[in-house]
Amino acid sequence: MVMEVVVKIGTMAFCGFSSKMALFLILGVMAMMNVKGASGELERLEHPTKADGSLGFLVLGDWGRRGDYNQSEVASQMGRIGEELDIDFVVSTGDNFYDDGLTGEHDPNFEESFSKIYTAKSLQKPWYTVLGNHDYRGDVEAQLSPVLRKIDSRWICLRSFIVNAELVEIFFVDTTPFVGAYFANFEDHTYDWRGIKTRRSYLRSLLKDVDSALRASPAKWKIVVGHHAVRSISHHGDTPELIKFLLPILRTNDVDFYINGHDHCLQQITDTESRIQFLTSGAGSKAWRGDINGIDRQDVKFFHDGQGFLSVELTETDARIAFYDVFGKVMHTWNAAKQPISDI
Ligand SMILES: [Zn+2]
Repeated sequence: MVMEVVVKIGTMAFCGFSSKMALFLILGVMAMMNVKGASGELERLEHPTKADGSLGFLVLGDWGRRGDYNQSEVASQMGRIGEELDIDFVVSTGDNFYDDGLTGEHDPNFEESFSKIYTAKSLQKPWYTVLGNHDYRGDVEAQLSPVLRKIDSRWICLRSFIVNAELVEIFFVDTTPFVGAYFANFEDHTYDWRGIKTRRSYLRSLLKDVDSALRASPAKWKIVVGHHAVRSISHHGDTPELIKFLLPILRTNDVDFYINGHDHCLQQITDTESRIQFLTSGAGSKAWRGDINGIDRQDVKFFHDGQGFLSVELTETDARIAFYDVFGKVMHTWNAAKQPISDI
């Protein structure tokens, strides 16, 4: 029998102390039950849509620098746009804390780079977060610990999980273990691979879980979030391991958007063989000016090498993506529709 654990997390749950405590308890129970271990399936969180059935959220990546490199400016514009769009939550694409993740559950960097930076009222919502390679360079389990949720209840960081928001399911995938170079000794960094007994079995089981969850998803929109890019024309470029192992699964299962960080820019690249749009939001603080290779390619719809973030607004039939710069100015938008005619 497959055990399904569903945790409901509503926007209203973040308004008062007692409901915050309820959330801690729920998440604490989840942690104690080790829900993934029992069935092998991805942990699933539920997030309701607005009363009119729509949903909106912001996506930010590569940010935690104690406010430096314009992190505070981006945060302040996120607060303003978040208010304007009445967002339901925030998604972080990883590399949450520089340079080397957190040193432990009580590392002051958590509050200095997160709680004290994203202070706007509109950002007091759940932050659904994946891990990046820089996070794996520190105490990776600290970021997954319920202790952080006691310090700031917005923080929801798991390795791989699903947020079911009725009209959309968002599949968060732990992409760092895909990258072979991190397991070799080429780099001057150490990675915290606790929790990943063998890379091969971890990836095999993760890909199987993502594939079966996507296959079973009845949601109108399917979005996959990971730290590393499938496609990118910035510094790191494409991630060959994701092209080989993850992309075929995304294509087969009609994924609408794959959203990542890792490259410190904003970009949109259209898949040449499917409906997938590859969206990069990795510009939460330090950006890489001029680090571009392939800007003239036809599949590249947008590229910005400064700081910023993006928003996603969804209804049953329409999606609107917008990219914002460090001043909160809209630089690029993209609309997609779900009418069957659009597939002809
Ligand atoms: Zn990274």
